[in-house]
Amino acid sequence: MTTGARSHCVALSGGVGGAKLALGLSRLLPGDALTVVCNTADDFDHLGLRICPDLDTVMYTLGGISNRDTGWGQAHETWSFLEALSHLGGETWFRLGDRDLATHVERTRRLRAGESLTEVTTALCEALGIAARVLPMSDDPVRTVVLTETGELSFQHYFVRDACAPTVSGFRFDGIDTARPSPAFLEALEDHDTAAILVCPSNPFVSVDPLLALDGVEVTLRRTGAPVVAVSPIVGGAAVKGPAAKMMAELGMPVTAVGVARHYRERDLLDGFVIDDDDAGQAAEIEDLGLPTLVTGTVMETLADRERLARETIDFARNLDSRRGDVAEAGSPEPSA
Ligand code: GDP
Repeated sequence: MTTGARSHCVALSGGVGGAKLALGLSRLLPGDALTVVCNTADDFDHLGLRICPDLDTVMYTLGGISNRDTGWGQAHETWSFLEALSHLGGETWFRLGDRDLATHVERTRRLRAGESLTEVTTALCEALGIAARVLPMSDDPVRTVVLTETGELSFQHYFVRDACAPTVSGFRFDGIDTARPSPAFLEALEDHDTAAILVCPSNPFVSVDPLLALDGVEVTLRRTGAPVVAVSPIVGGAAVKGPAAKMMAELGMPVTAVGVARHYRERDLLDGFVIDDDDAGQAAEIEDLGLPTLVTGTVMETLADRERLARETIDFARNLDSRRGDVAEAGSPEPSA
């Protein structure tokens, strides 16, 4: 198994954490050498519009128009629409800026005209000058329901309206049994040209798990020739942003990089794991799970941080791949992890 000529990478992404690594990857991998597959289980219909928060965060980030301060929405945003809506007594808990609104209006128009979400996303990316291929995980609706001590909440009600305050006891992905992965998603995973599949430092429960739960994805990840490497979203016992750490604690898991590694390792999905220098003390424990571990700076503050982590993660995956190749050439079975 020689892999040196492979050039394509696939990134599995949620919103903020995923988009940061995707931007780094997009700076190293020209044009269609990068496919970013985004979670769509956060999507919802609001004010008659289809809103896809993770796709939008990735599109705005790769298109160079994201709001770096908030981590969501567009830069140079104005809020006339929301102010006028508020004046009319409309729902304003979900912040929709004027520029952002244009995305949702155009997406909804195209979906109603019969285009698939994959087609709409491709068109929007083209308009934004994005060279990488950005895909929704599915063209079919999947919706995360957060199970909490006080009852079930739709994801955006939990995340935005209730600011992640309720205590989480689990998740359900409505529609997951009938949704098919976007065909281009599975093709990218199996493509002989794919050098690495990277699970971004995204929320494991509500950003990555829905992607993995789609029919055929886990099985394809286990049999693909490309190494699968995840970057931990937990650094120093905390999430860099968002509720991942709070969720882990409430689910009774250790709030550590090891906890994230175990979460994926239990399903035999990974070939390697990337953790932060801060968590170097956990590397041996993760290696003991059968996961080769790269320890490096994973907090992406600057563009240089994003590029460096992207480069190191690809290099790490490629090295794992040649190790797998050595094993295969020696006639031994592939390692299971
Ligand atoms: P969301 O859908 O917008 O919540 O975005 P994601 O699921 O992609 O990202 C949320 C996760 O990204 C959180 O668990 C954060 O800890 C993680 N994250 C955000 N920025 C960074 C970073 O710079 N480095 C690492 N390692 N994780 C990050």
